[in-house]
Amino acid sequence: MERVKQHTVKVRAGRPDGSPPLCPRRSEQGDCDGQQTWKGCVERVGAKVTSDDKLEPVALWQCLCKVHGRFRLYPDFLLPHKHYVIDVVDAALESRAVDTPLDEFCRDWGLHDRSTPTRWIAAFRARLDVLADTAQHLLEELLSAASGPRPPTGYDYAFVWAALGRLREAYLECGLVPPSRSYLALFA
Ligand SMILES: [Zn+2]
Repeated sequence: MERVKQHTVKVRAGRPDGSPPLCPRRSEQGDCDGQQTWKGCVERVGAKVTSDDKLEPVALWQCLCKVHGRFRLYPDFLLPHKHYVIDVVDAALESRAVDTPLDEFCRDWGLHDRSTPTRWIAAFRARLDVLADTAQHLLEELLSAASGPRPPTGYDYAFVWAALGRLREAYLECGLVPPSRSYLALFA
């Protein structure tokens, strides 16, 4: 994939401008703000596009938070601790939201084994409450809206998936880079 090559060229060309980003483990009070330093580049094994296709290794910048330890900066096509690129994880989660049989998803995306996408979908389902709340909270923050009506309780999978889609649109409207839905699904 061309964007992997472009990403790696950019990472190797030198450190990103400015201070390191906020720590992913910071508390809401910003307990560790300003305590991050750049810590050089690491190579991560290539992510998978299908069961058989592997991308070349991906270079990532690493930072050190004095309070919480090291963290890596991930490009928009990779998830921490996941072997597959984001597009595949997103497509698996989407297939469940639109009732596509899992076998059909696996055939379309070149996965031999149902167990990996089954795990992603189960993880999403296990977090529906958290994700619905996160989506609502971030939407209110982005749009600076006074607390709007809460989402109905007993939300289902497709409802939460659609809510995360609306959240991505709000990020774009505010000129921000939206996190992928699968990133939110697994790490929000
Ligand atoms: Zn920290």
